[in-house]
Amino acid sequence: MGNDGGSIPTRRELVKSTKGERTSSELFEQNLLNATFVWSTCLLSKRPLELPVVSDYLGHLYNKDSILEWLISPENFGDGEAIVPHIKSLKDIVELKITKDEDSGKWTCPVTGKELKSGGSKFDYLPECGHVFAESAFREIDTDNCLECGLKYNKDYVVTINPTTKTDVEANKARMGRLKSEGLTHSLKSASSKKKRKNGEDANEKKGKKKIKAGESIHNEETLRMTKRVLESVQHDINGRKRSEAIQDLYLKA
Ligand SMILES: [Zn+2]
Repeated sequence: MGNDGGSIPTRRELVKSTKGERTSSELFEQNLLNATFVWSTCLLSKRPLELPVVSDYLGHLYNKDSILEWLISPENFGDGEAIVPHIKSLKDIVELKITKDEDSGKWTCPVTGKELKSGGSKFDYLPECGHVFAESAFREIDTDNCLECGLKYNKDYVVTINPTTKTDVEANKARMGRLKSEGLTHSLKSASSKKKRKNGEDANEKKGKKKIKAGESIHNEETLRMTKRVLESVQHDINGRKRSEAIQDLYLKA
């Protein structure tokens, strides 16, 4: 009776949890209800966030050691594949340089002094150097150089930390889309350096094959084979006619 009403959502919940893994975004959205969680907890290990902290293209925060462990031993994380399927290498994260207030120990914006916390100001970081600022700092000081280290940064690549609006969530995703199309990773490193090496190897292989096809190598290869044949024929004391044929062949092809 009274239980009937309650049993429906419970069942739904059960189905949802047994059906499985929630995506990183789903989990994140769910945790937005408890925004403190995403500002204080490593989304992967569920341990309290502690410096050094890294962030992915979604602007989510993780303990660096947890991500390193994830990259080395993904089997240690039951839900890792659901939470950080997009983190495949160190190129997919940026280590954040967060200013820690010496007195309070709180994480703050070095320009505005605002605290990084849930329900607080909007915070961004520059993937070029990892420095973190309240968004208002960028408004106050219009520059293309990091307000902390002076490194030139691209405004299009700035990442919003723990975005709370759909616009900001989508902006982070759109940014990643742009980077991908430019052959870059979240950390602005070339996405293809690993592949490049692979491609490079492939290219060399192709080059090698081409070389063989093109002439000189096949020539040398054939020459070698023929020389070997000649030597063999000498060794095995094959009749003189065949030997001279082989030698003639060698000269014709050389
Ligand atoms: Zn910087």
